[in-house]
Amino acid sequence: MTAPQLPPQVPELVIDHAAELYALEVAAGSAAAAGVTAAVAELWSWAIRQWVGRFRGIDRPVPDERSWDEYMTELETRVRAVRVDVGEPLRQWARDARIMGARQALTELVADGELPQEYRERWIDGEPDPDRQPLLRWIVDAQAAGARSPDPSAVLEQLLPTALPADVAEVLDAVDATARGKLRAAADAASHAAGSTFTHVVREVLAPAQQAVTTAETTTAWTIHRAANAGIEAMARALGAERLWIAERDACPDCLALSGAISVDGVFDVAPAFGEPATPVWPAPPLRCPPRHPRCRCRTRLWLGRTRRNSNLPELLQADAERSILLGLRRPGDSERRRLRAAAWLLDNGTTAPKTVQDRARRAVRAQAFPSAPRRRSTSTR
Ligand SMILES: [Zn+2]
Repeated sequence: MTAPQLPPQVPELVIDHAAELYALEVAAGSAAAAGVTAAVAELWSWAIRQWVGRFRGIDRPVPDERSWDEYMTELETRVRAVRVDVGEPLRQWARDARIMGARQALTELVADGELPQEYRERWIDGEPDPDRQPLLRWIVDAQAAGARSPDPSAVLEQLLPTALPADVAEVLDAVDATARGKLRAAADAASHAAGSTFTHVVREVLAPAQQAVTTAETTTAWTIHRAANAGIEAMARALGAERLWIAERDACPDCLALSGAISVDGVFDVAPAFGEPATPVWPAPPLRCPPRHPRCRCRTRLWLGRTRRNSNLPELLQADAERSILLGLRRPGDSERRRLRAAAWLLDNGTTAPKTVQDRARRAVRAQAFPSAPRRRSTSTR
């Protein structure tokens, strides 16, 4: 896992907030998913140690079928002993993430400076809606107080419902059963797999067992980001405001196509992405907030229309997203071909990217490969 890489055009506060949320994701991962991760790591370690001890080398085959059966029987017992308990502990982390998202949204709003006229009239000079009043008062006070804004916790507690968003609750209800199912499949495979080498053990048992860890980790990341964005969405709803989508620089083309988009009545339009139909929204449409898909770390911010400080952010984000496509930015394992097709489409249909970036992209499309296969930097070098 690495920290989100947001475009440099977004305010520093938003970049700090993404890092803060990522830290929460890491903490949630080590608290909720650590048990199954450590148990499966111990499984690998046991399997390797025993193979080497019994058969004199990891690259040596078993001498006979009986040795294989004995080894696999013990391995099966160990796989069946792995416990998964991720869903319940994640619930509290999801609540924390939602509060964090809501607080971040409000702080970013205050940092934007003066409110657009329309909202000033509606919130401050007009008849305030009693439900919104504590929130509006907080915003007005915070803007007056500048750097020493009051703590919004009390307001947030009033505004955020105790129940988690329905899709988060559903995913958390299902995660343990899904991960246990993967472990059961690995154990069943151990009970009847035939083979003679350690490669067979990895393919038949250890790799399938590892998928339980992937499920726990992916669910943790998705839950934290979904819950945080739900907090931002709740603030937008409370204020009658829309939100702006901010994609990571190395996000998938579907997410990059959304960067700079503004929601309409709380929903983001899932339009074709750089000339190709967008992939289905996970878990289900409509697209109300990120994550767009399980590994998406896009975020949103409140959008009340242009202020002096945020004036051309949507256009800057769109331009940066085009640049990402043309440079072939992506994460390890993501499709280069899809980005090459997207780059070709942008070159054909027009882009605001500088000529040097376009020329580089044209050469990449001709060669059907991006020059240096840019990789995202890891957190340690950040
Ligand atoms: Zn995304």
